[in-house]
Amino acid sequence: MIDAMPRSHENDMLESARRRMLDHDLRGRDITDRDVLRVMAETPREVFVPSDYFSQAYADKPLPIGSDQTISQPYIVALMTQTLRLGNACDVLEIGTGSGYQTAVLARLARHVWTIETLAELSDSAQHVLEHLGVDNVTFRVGDGGCGWPEERQFDRIIVTAAAPDVPEPLQAQLAEGGLLVAPIGGGHTQSLIAAEKCQGKLIERHLCGCRFVKLRGAHGFETS
Ligand code: SAH
Repeated sequence: MIDAMPRSHENDMLESARRRMLDHDLRGRDITDRDVLRVMAETPREVFVPSDYFSQAYADKPLPIGSDQTISQPYIVALMTQTLRLGNACDVLEIGTGSGYQTAVLARLARHVWTIETLAELSDSAQHVLEHLGVDNVTFRVGDGGCGWPEERQFDRIIVTAAAPDVPEPLQAQLAEGGLLVAPIGGGHTQSLIAAEKCQGKLIERHLCGCRFVKLRGAHGFETS
């Protein structure tokens, strides 16, 4: 019987870390959306981090994922997801696939996610993990996400998970009327996490919190050193 099987110390440790993340770092702050909390309880964050960081997978801090990039801290993933007010009719564009953790959370709440990553090794690895988890409503692309998705279409929601000086113009154009966008906007070191709604063709922005993301590269990002 599966229930009677002894549980490994590792599983117990991960489960208590996951519980602490939910109770202390998410519910203990301002994450109230039950669907976001449920999906983050169900998505195994440990499979998205390198094995060296396994024991820290649920700590409320960003962790290295290789290629000088990071997986965002759980609170920021939850806040960005909650801000998008997703439903199962939403088509989402994500810029910065990274580990694929945020992608998996979005995919479980939306109709379909299109995700763009400049680094092929990260995109490939994220695709592999999501396939393993049985997430099948994601389309991956390697390229400059600041330029949007090359085919002309509009998205109900757009999420940018790398810091940009401004909301890239192609993303503004690809957001549907009434659609929501969330992105870290500002300098290369610190940014303001902004939520924006497209009203009569213009973005109405509000500040959510200060944040620190890795830099967006490419035509609408910061120059790489
Ligand atoms: N949401 C991811 C965050 C990854 S960090 C996670 O939680 O794992 C941001 C990612 O954006 C990095 O993987 C980086 O390579 C990618 N990135 C930077 N500039 C980009 C661009 N112009 N287009 C697409 N991805 C970009």
